[in-house]
Amino acid sequence: MIRDTNKWLIFQHRFQQIIQLSDDTIGQNRLVYSPNWVAAQTALIQFGQQIGLTAMVDNYGNVYLDLPGKDDRVIATGSHIDTVINGGKYDGLYGVLGGLQAVDELKERFGTPQHTLRLISFSEEEGSRFKATFSGSKYYALHQSVKDLTDSEGVSFEHARSTAVSHLQSLNDVIVKRPVIPDSFTELHIEQGPRLVTSHDQIGLVSGIVGQRRYTITVQGQSNHAGTTPMNNRHDALQTAVILIAALERRAHELSDSLTFTVGQLTVTPNVSNVIPGTVHFTVDIRHADDSVLNHFEQIINERLTQVADPLTKVTAKRYVKDLPATFDSTLLSQNQQLAEQLGLSARVMVSGAGHDSYVMSQVSPTTMIFVPSEGGISHAPNELTHPADLKAGINLLMASLHAQAY
Ligand SMILES: [Zn+2]
Repeated sequence: MIRDTNKWLIFQHRFQQIIQLSDDTIGQNRLVYSPNWVAAQTALIQFGQQIGLTAMVDNYGNVYLDLPGKDDRVIATGSHIDTVINGGKYDGLYGVLGGLQAVDELKERFGTPQHTLRLISFSEEEGSRFKATFSGSKYYALHQSVKDLTDSEGVSFEHARSTAVSHLQSLNDVIVKRPVIPDSFTELHIEQGPRLVTSHDQIGLVSGIVGQRRYTITVQGQSNHAGTTPMNNRHDALQTAVILIAALERRAHELSDSLTFTVGQLTVTPNVSNVIPGTVHFTVDIRHADDSVLNHFEQIINERLTQVADPLTKVTAKRYVKDLPATFDSTLLSQNQQLAEQLGLSARVMVSGAGHDSYVMSQVSPTTMIFVPSEGGISHAPNELTHPADLKAGINLLMASLHAQAY
């Protein structure tokens, strides 16, 4: 168990080695295929090889560390190595190094497993460098590739990928391979929300991931002079947008307590202090575990657009994201529930409001996730924090789960 001080020091040492790569930046910066990213995946490969795991790297730079078992079945765990710009220490990395820790300790205590144990460090999940998310797990699980993207400096995905990946693939004893899909996948991750901290639970057992939809709403009014246009003769796009946003927010609240509604982006044209706004674009992001609730709210949006008071102001909505909710494996969930109880950990079942590699993995393999608390519900920020006791609790539960599945 990681209660063992020596084991905990090894985990901390590995963790610090990766964290130190971002010493000269605000927060953590391991954007996919960047020098820090290459250094982190390289260090991980070495950590794995030092304890006798077989290292594989595929053409997207996903790293796989296998502890070969006695048969062909594969029990996998892992998360993503990349971060957002100026990100926190735990998002992604905790699941990668926590997974390695679990495999390391199981190997030491129980030797060769019945089924192969695999730690996966996905290349990219956050979409922070290129406008593509989950490109690592999508390449592995769905054989999807990224097409024609460049980063903010004009570097193409292809160029960045081939340079970084060839470095990893040329490391000593690394096998160039995209291995078979595992028979199960468990992802350890910080919650990135306040629910566990609020309920004083140590563990979140994730039953699925919310579905999400995003829309761009365009309000087309008429620009005009702010001083000479009478108030009763205006087609002010921003005033219409404000009324609309307030009405939609109220309707979302009425429809379901767990429906999230966010207007995160708003652009006003011409955006000049003495001109009546002629055009407004804003985004709407809605998420819920039940797709029928999202369907219902989409209807509400479409109805509400036709009820704008000013007949000369036109409002249109365009949906650009429609991700169905994911339901995770119920057998793995109830197994983890029992194991948490045996370990004396307080756990609650919850739906994740954020996307994860597990969303992709659940489309090809029975999948589950284990959450640990994020202090203050903060994530994607330098002050992201999970306390050592919670980090240990998550790793211990993951270890118990992998043991139950693979031995
Ligand atoms: Zn993450």
